Amino acid sequence: MSTDPKRWVAGHVAALPKSGIRDFFELVAKMKGQDVISLGVGEPDFVTPWHVREAAIFALERGKTYYTSNLGMIELRRAISTYVAEHFSVSYRPEDQVIVTVGVSEAIDLALRAFCNPGDTVMFHQPCYVSYSPSVALVHAQGIAVPTYAKDNFALTAEALRAAWKPGAKILMLNLPCNPTGGTCSLEQLTKIAEFCREKDLLVLSDEIYSELTFDGVHTSIASLPGMAERTIFLHGFSKAFAMTGWRIGYACGPAALIDAMMKVHQYTMLCASIVAQEAALEALTRGWDSVLKMREQYHRRRDLIVRRFNEIGLTCHSPRGSFYAFPEIKSTGLTEKEFSFGLLEKEKVAVVPGAAFGENGIGHVRACFATSYDQIIEACNRTERFVQGLKK
Ligand code: PLP
Repeated sequence: MSTDPKRWVAGHVAALPKSGIRDFFELVAKMKGQDVISLGVGEPDFVTPWHVREAAIFALERGKTYYTSNLGMIELRRAISTYVAEHFSVSYRPEDQVIVTVGVSEAIDLALRAFCNPGDTVMFHQPCYVSYSPSVALVHAQGIAVPTYAKDNFALTAEALRAAWKPGAKILMLNLPCNPTGGTCSLEQLTKIAEFCREKDLLVLSDEIYSELTFDGVHTSIASLPGMAERTIFLHGFSKAFAMTGWRIGYACGPAALIDAMMKVHQYTMLCASIVAQEAALEALTRGWDSVLKMREQYHRRRDLIVRRFNEIGLTCHSPRGSFYAFPEIKSTGLTEKEFSFGLLEKEKVAVVPGAAFGENGIGHVRACFATSYDQIIEACNRTERFVQGLKK
């Protein structure tokens, strides 16, 4: 009989590919204390605004240490409902159309578990957030990656969707603005995508976690387009806009019957999000907007800087319309994205993520997160320039 502990690991978990960025971050961690500039992790460099942290402390002082309703505190659901109506023009009832989750991560997991039967098909545009494909695999569903391209500023098109679609496809995962490309869609493109979803009867999981970090144009939620609210789960959270990654708090809104299905899974797994994080989130949504605007202004300046510098260095870089990621092409260096990332880290101590981590369509690119200070970005770009010039010698 085998004594290998791996014999107990479920087949579909064993089959998950090793994260394309794990090796890389292990190396970054080993280089701690060596003046590494990290453009790696997708995390704000700001601390959660003080009044939000204070609201959490105050909640603890008042003895708020218990479970909340499975759906989340009603006061927070009301605030979410008001925010979504005002910013995205979609109305959700706080009583049964909003669920508070442990980050958008849990909301994605709940949605896939609630809506996928084994063998169902889920479409997503790619390059995409590293978790999408594994999350689909974890519910025994099949993923279809729909390519987006640098020449289109990584906007998803209805034509690409149609070309990739297969009979029986059930769900479309959208992430606009997108991690890692910063791509979004114009209203015209989004309208065509919506038409396609109605034609093919697709349920949309719309991850809009970066919507508040839109620099060019106005963000539109697909849920706000005609006939879409009834087939869309709107996913959002506090990690990015409010610099609250460590609080683990997000939410989903959608038709009551679908939120109820997600709630069924949530009540037996997570039970509820942390009450302290919920109190903080309530404060953030009701009084945190000045901080969001200030942070967005900083990200905007940094975006303009990093895009300009990458292009000057000869790494063609489109201007991401939102998010805090630049996704330059590194093909001109003659290196693969892995060679480029490891070389840049070893020689110049700048960490960027190899584009292949975000799927096949990320090949030939690296992701540089500009959620770090302006001065650090200047220095990281100078080092990158030295690295690229060194390759020519
Ligand atoms: N969705 C996207 C597109 C992300 O980039 C991330 C985090 O990087 C998440 C979801 C996870 O967010 P949360 O911290 O709310 O779980």
